[in-house]
Amino acid sequence: MAIASVNPATGELLKTFTPLTDQEIEHKLALADRTFATYRHTSFSDRAQWMHQAADILEAKKTELGIVMTLEMGKTLKSAISEIEKCAHLCRYYAESAPQYLADTPAQTDASRTMIRYQPLGIILAVMPWNFPFWQVFRFAVPALMAGNVGLLKHASNVPQCALAIAEIFHAAGIPEGAFQTLLVGADKVAGLVADHRIKAATLTGSEPAGQSLAAIAGHHLKKVVLELGGSDPFIVFKSADLELAVNTAVTARVMNNGQTCIAAKRFIIEEAIAEQFINKFVEKFKALKVGDPLQPETDVGPLATPQILNELDSQVKASVDLGAKILVGGYRLKDKGNFYAPTILADIPQGAPPYYQEFFGPVASIFRVKSLAEAIALANSTDFGLGASFWSNDEQEIEQAIEQIEAGAVFVNGMVKSDPRVPFGGIKRSGFGRELGCEGIREFVNIKTIWIK
Ligand code: NAP
Repeated sequence: MAIASVNPATGELLKTFTPLTDQEIEHKLALADRTFATYRHTSFSDRAQWMHQAADILEAKKTELGIVMTLEMGKTLKSAISEIEKCAHLCRYYAESAPQYLADTPAQTDASRTMIRYQPLGIILAVMPWNFPFWQVFRFAVPALMAGNVGLLKHASNVPQCALAIAEIFHAAGIPEGAFQTLLVGADKVAGLVADHRIKAATLTGSEPAGQSLAAIAGHHLKKVVLELGGSDPFIVFKSADLELAVNTAVTARVMNNGQTCIAAKRFIIEEAIAEQFINKFVEKFKALKVGDPLQPETDVGPLATPQILNELDSQVKASVDLGAKILVGGYRLKDKGNFYAPTILADIPQGAPPYYQEFFGPVASIFRVKSLAEAIALANSTDFGLGASFWSNDEQEIEQAIEQIEAGAVFVNGMVKSDPRVPFGGIKRSGFGRELGCEGIREFVNIKTIWIK
């Protein structure tokens, strides 16, 4: 895939980039390796100061950076600006909390003194997706850098300007150049990087095939990996829920980021008693969504990031309809130019149709009606994914049963699934393994060293 910025709203080629040569990659790897030798000894207070500075830069340039994002991958400018603000918040969060998360932890054993120490590993390779081009990278980089590691970023090939801007922000904040570098390379260079003895671990956020490929190579070289992969999150609504709030949230949870979010609600599982009401309101709100230029403040849904994603989504909808699913709204491409798809709701979905087992990465919601909570949970768990789940009810017993039995890395009750620096984020099953964020996230890429003193 060429490394290039193409405006998804118009199809216009904005800029192309020449991938790094092997020699340039080697130069960056050697710089990262040299930098780690000194960076690992920098103090928490130095690193925290740099993170606060990075947060200041992000806040000062949020509109400018937001536009870069919108032009490269099509998210609405207002959501791009929120993403930058969230990254700034993350920088400040770990600047404050990393020293406490990584402080020596005492333990009681037969020794006179026992403790656990958290030490950095070295160069961590991050392979990142385009859908949250800043947030995904910061979510990896901030805790990794606060822990004393150094990072190499291989970003998605369609967001090179975001990738370069992120490295510039960290350097302008005072972080040494070799501690965080962007590698403008294609996916074909990842295997060689993972194999390199100087790279100690890797993290990938993206699709299942990419995750499988990286994990296989890392496994061969016995390197630690964190994977954040796809999802087909259920959004389950039972009759005691606040229906109005549930419907409003359902719309946001499906179409945020133009529908291209791993933790977007994708399968809406509704108790039969309220299904008609829920569906009517849901359809009405989908019809009211404004699709168009992502730079305009009134736009709710912008274009999909690439023509391939548009084609894939369109064929998933067509395959579902061919098998008997009904379209309640949408179901077609929009406009002549750009990767626009109408917000779509599918219902009466026959077993075995794509919404049962595939991720729909765009503004397409699938509705399922159920008669009991057991049926809802069985349906929720019937995919290979296990990222997040949203459950809506005001019945304590139902809530407890859902929390206990849903197979996912997170269950949000009466709210939509979201990432929050204060709590871990990640999936189970084919949604990946390992965690980002929270205390668990910053401890993924450290040597957890046991110290036992007689
Ligand atoms: P993708 O095609 O897998 O790309 C993600 C990254 O992996 C890109 O940098 C890509 O590079 C690279 N890549 C692709 N194939 C590779 C391979 N065989 N070996 C090594 N690297 C490879 O995914 P995407 O379409 O950009 O992103 C959408 C997917 O990401 C969805 O499934 C979504 O659910 C998932 N996602 C998950 C999370 C989470 O936290 N769980 C968050 C966001 C997105 P190139 O661009 O150069 O191909």
